[in-house]
Parts: sequence; structure tokens; C-alpha cells
Amino acid sequence: MATSVETSAGARAKYEPVIGLEVHVQLLTISKIFCSCSTRFGAPPNTNVCPVCLGLPGALPVLNRKAVEFATLAAMALNCEIRETSIFARKNYFYPDLPKGYQISQYDKPLAEHGFIDIDTSGDKRSGASGAANSKRIGITRVHLEEDAGKSLHEGFAGSSEQTAIDLNRSGVPLIEIVSEPDIATPDEAYEYLTRLKEIILYTGVSDVNMEEGSLRCDANVSVRPRGEKKFGTKTEVKNVNSFRFIREALEYEIDRQIEVIEGGGKITQETRLYNSVEGKTYGMRSKEQAHDYRYFPEPDLLPLVVDEKWQAQIRSTLPELPEARRERMMANYGITAQDAHVLTISRALADQFESAAKAAKNPKRVANLVQSELMGRLKAKGLEIEQSPISMKGVAVSADLVESGAISGKMLKDLYDLSFERGKDFPEVYEEEGRPEQSRDTSEIEKLLEKVIAENPKQVEQYRAGKKTVAQFFVGQVMKLSKGQANPQMVNQLVAKKLG
Ligand SMILES: [Zn+2]
Repeated sequence: MATSVETSAGARAKYEPVIGLEVHVQLLTISKIFCSCSTRFGAPPNTNVCPVCLGLPGALPVLNRKAVEFATLAAMALNCEIRETSIFARKNYFYPDLPKGYQISQYDKPLAEHGFIDIDTSGDKRSGASGAANSKRIGITRVHLEEDAGKSLHEGFAGSSEQTAIDLNRSGVPLIEIVSEPDIATPDEAYEYLTRLKEIILYTGVSDVNMEEGSLRCDANVSVRPRGEKKFGTKTEVKNVNSFRFIREALEYEIDRQIEVIEGGGKITQETRLYNSVEGKTYGMRSKEQAHDYRYFPEPDLLPLVVDEKWQAQIRSTLPELPEARRERMMANYGITAQDAHVLTISRALADQFESAAKAAKNPKRVANLVQSELMGRLKAKGLEIEQSPISMKGVAVSADLVESGAISGKMLKDLYDLSFERGKDFPEVYEEEGRPEQSRDTSEIEKLLEKVIAENPKQVEQYRAGKKTVAQFFVGQVMKLSKGQANPQMVNQLVAKKLG
């Protein structure tokens, strides 16, 4: 656990953390932002390069139209205002993986500004609670376009114990940087913000936001100040954290560390810190550059970027229904709970599958219920994600219709689901393999079973006739057991009432 044991609850209560997040998202264009080199991940080192992305003298950048459209679409999904004319700027710094000696980015006139994400602060979506009381708006300061740098390799090649190698395949890959306002007050809110951000970007389709492959990277700025104080404390920046969970842990650690330093009479140094997830601690790396250290100036090789009204309208028309709106609509259309809606909208593909299955089913609500009651638990037990489920949404819909029509019982459905998971096959296939089993609706057979139960349990019969009607459930249970779950429970109920009543 990252949290230091030395920070007392009392000390924590005195301070208020202030968190801002900078997220870099790699855009899914086929070619780079200023040249036609491929952006494919995992290509042999230095094979996707040309004079432009190698930064050779005289090479000139040509802006990728698709990168602009993707960045604009993402900014729109994040509720930003699009700036009609934005300016590319040079951010000057020296680093081995940056051959030009500068990165082309945007500075004082970014592509988009003034957006927001609404996050759920109830902390427990299972409660089904939603609405303004549990919602907090986190401002987005800006979304701008920039190019990625190359990568320094410290391992995985001959001589790596003495040398560092440079792979420039990533140099010039298009990125958007999404900068939040310092509106985030807790590590949990940071986690929730990142989760919602990732989900929104995924829905737009402009990035695969895959943290392992580096297509989503997050830096966190954090400071603490005495509660009620308006002025910000000195912040530190936590860099290179490779999962949302670690970001939460790093922030928990860093907040406590800062409180301890201040409580001990010390001062916070503005610096960049790295998080070690094994130790659960952050370590100071270098003092943080100020903006003037980068000597930003307008990029002389690129014209101002103009995304006029017409182009904006065109891009806006491709904006899909976003997760929050989709959840609201699905809850209304299918009568499902907030929790159901959250699970079913994890990805756009899954939500699409669910909706087409539910629309085709006799009772859409039953489809949603089966996902929650029968599918999720089995997936969890097997450690599978819903996308890896052997039973497809269409399969769930088929099974829901069979229960709806009374062809199979709930118990039979459970058994068939178990078989699906055992065999790794979809429900309709297993249903066929099992010879399309049907629950028994043959009254004479159930009557025989019931007579047997009555004969063997005179005491319960007496109780029932003496007025203890709840004993009926005992008889139903016994008959269901003898029928191996094949009997129709409603029918058994009726027969019990008839025979004993
Ligand atoms: Zn290139």
C-alpha cells in the first residue's frame, strides 16, 4: 500500500489536495503527423522513419489532415470550444530521443479549450445512485495537438548493459495533450476522471488508449494547502505512471509525503518525481522546468491551422453517442439499473451488441437481468472480461426468450450456462448439443412426483392443513429436486395448492 503510516488522520484533515492531470493520447492515424511514415506499433526499430521525423536539415513538415480531424473530434467529445485558428509552436529542449532539438506542439493558441468531464463521486455505482448530487464537473483547460518524441531503449538488445539505443519509430506520431483544471480533490476523483476520459476517447474511436503500448500516458500535478486557503501550495509532478491504479496510489503517497514535509516545518520543492510501484513511493527526479525554459515560439515551417465552421460541422456530424448519454438512454429504454448500464457500456462494441440483442428479444429487461445475474458472476469466477465471454449477447437473448416462453426453467438456464462456460461455447450451440431440453409440463408426471412427496412427508402435510401455508414451498422444492429441475415451478405451485388445499 502506498499510503505512509506516519501521516495521522488529524494531519490529513488539516490539508486539502489539489490535483491536475495531463494526459497524452496517441491518435490512431495510419501515418505520422508531419510525414507519411507508418505509425504501426512494434515495427523493428528505426524502420518507420524519413528525413522529416528524423529531423534532418531542410526537411519540411506537412500536416496530416486526419490527425486534425481526430483531435477536433476528441475535443468536441470533451465539451471543448474549438479555436478556429490555432498556432503550432516549437517547444525547445534537448533530449537524445528528440533529434530536431524541439518538439512541434501548440502553446498560447491551442486547438481547443474550456471543456469538461462530469465524474461520478458516489464511489459506488452498485448503489445505482446517479444525478447531480453525486456528480462533479472537472474542467478541461485545453486540448492541443503535438508530435511524439522517439524512445530511448535501455534493455533488450546486444550491449544494452553499457549502451542506450534510440528508436525513432515513434518520433512524429500524433498526440493530443488533454490538460485538466486543478479541480480534482482526491486520488479517487483522479481515478474516476481518467476512467471517464478513457471511455469517452474510446467511444470516439480516435485512439485505442492502450496504456501498455503507451497510447495513453498520464502525468499528475499535485499540491496540498491548508483547508480553506485560496492560494495553491507548491506542486510536484508525478510522471511515467503506467496504470490508473498506480496513479491513484502515487497520488495517495505524494499527498501524505507533502503533508509530512509541511507538518515537519519543511518546504515542498517544485520538481518532477517518479513513482516506484513496487515500493509504492515517489522519488525526486529533476527540478521542474518552467514554461520559459522551453523558449516557445511559433513554428515557422507551418501555417496557422484553420478549422473553419464548415469543417467543424462536418467533424461534429461524426460524433457518436457518448457513454454517459448512452447509459441514460439505455436505462430509460430497457428499464435497466445504473449498474447494468455501466457494465453494458464498457465499450461501444459491447453496448451495440447488447442493444441489438435486447431489441430482438421478447423482454429486453430479462436480457439485462441475465447479464447481471448469470453472466457477470461466471465471468468473474473465470477471470474473464465481458468481451471474452463464451456466451454472446445474442446467446443471452436466445436464452432469455426460452425462459420467457416457459420452454426452459431458470434452473435449466443456469445448468446450460455452466455447460457453455465449461465447453467455451455460445448458449445456442450448447442448447442444440443438449438436444433442446424442455422443462416438463406434463401434469400427470408432476402429479406422480408430488404424490410421492406427500406420502413420504405426513408431518408437513399436517402442518400445511393446519394453516401453515409457507410449507407449500417445501413441497415445491422436493418436486423440483425429484424432477431434476425439469418441472415448471409455477405448475408445481398450482398442483400443490390443488392437492393439499
Ligand atoms: Zn517520417
